[in-house]
Amino acid sequence: MNLVIFGPPGAGKGTQSKFIVNEFNLYQLSTGDLLRNEIKNKTELGLKISSIINSGELVSDEIVGSLIEKFISNEKYQNKIIFDGYPRTLSQAQNLDKLLKKYHQKIDMVLKLSVSLESVKKRIRERQIQEKRTDDNEDIAIKRFKNYEKSSEQVLDYYKQTNLLKVVNGESGIAEISIEISELIKSIKG
Ligand code: AMP
Repeated sequence: MNLVIFGPPGAGKGTQSKFIVNEFNLYQLSTGDLLRNEIKNKTELGLKISSIINSGELVSDEIVGSLIEKFISNEKYQNKIIFDGYPRTLSQAQNLDKLLKKYHQKIDMVLKLSVSLESVKKRIRERQIQEKRTDDNEDIAIKRFKNYEKSSEQVLDYYKQTNLLKVVNGESGIAEISIEISELIKSIKG
């Protein structure tokens, strides 16, 4: 089973992914975490992308595409991935299908966490204190939210067409959201 968790910055994708990983024995593939790791380790790629990430813009499709292919092609993760932060655009969603097909896999469900800009701002303020992410100040967070709004509709339409999309109210408490997600996943596992 491969899943996608979708939603704006601060929606709780990372938190819920960690819950799903433990509950269903999957692996979290967070493109944001992978990119931040490159920056932390001062790799060539990290140096190239740090200003893009800090400005709240998206890294190129080629860069994120090759990061996720490394994961998808690895047998260890076969049919056990929760994609967190990918896809973000229609072209990434199409690329994901192409890559999964290449490695004889598919997406089984797309979970969308719906949250308002007000909640996003509040959560990002809290996360900034805990995680000290350089792209978590309010102005950049608003920019990231607007970027999300611009490209998310096309991605959601894409998954609606294939009946994969499930919408979860991301404004509820963490435990409540986890229960709802868990029930949705169990419904496809049969
Ligand atoms: P996240 O941790 O998912 O909020 O991502 C943090 C930042 O990493 C984003 O604002 C982008 O700059 C970059 N990033 C993460 N995932 C992607 C992606 N799928 N496509 C392009 N850029 C991404």
